Amino acid sequence: MVRRKTEAVHDDIYWMGKALREAKKASDRGEVPIGAVIVKDGVVMGRGYNLREGKRDPSAHAEMIAIRQAAKRLDQWRLTGAVLYVTLEPCLMCMGAIILARFDRVVFGCYDPKGGAAGSLYDLSGDKRLNHKVELTPRVREEECAAILSGFFTDLRTRKKMAREMAKRNI
Ligand SMILES: [Zn+2]
Repeated sequence: MVRRKTEAVHDDIYWMGKALREAKKASDRGEVPIGAVIVKDGVVMGRGYNLREGKRDPSAHAEMIAIRQAAKRLDQWRLTGAVLYVTLEPCLMCMGAIILARFDRVVFGCYDPKGGAAGSLYDLSGDKRLNHKVELTPRVREEECAAILSGFFTDLRTRKKMAREMAKRNI
């Protein structure tokens, strides 16, 4: 496998801020905070945040929602020339969709050692057997992207602990 990794450019920092804003919307709804935006020629074509719980849909990942929106807006399935920004390394499903949509580049915040398909568990970005290669730019605003996730899970554990305590005391 050939890894195609590029350094972040100034704009990447800016657009990742928009993806982080999407992630925040997910956490406001009690969803795991992951956000994505798709940019083509300096314009946002799609945006999305994780809605797996609310939609009861295993495919309602931030990237999938943003990809569907961008394809609709551009009125084509081929998203060549577009860049996808996502706060967490994409999973197998999303990397599959990214390759099928012919994205030029994917920029992500933090790695996902448990499910990432852009370098952690798998790296679909440069698999020679596939007919499309996508460039990767990892670790853009990595700390913020990781912090929003760890903050969410800490709050969740605290809430669960409180619920257990209350149940114990029959409150
Ligand atoms: Zn995914």
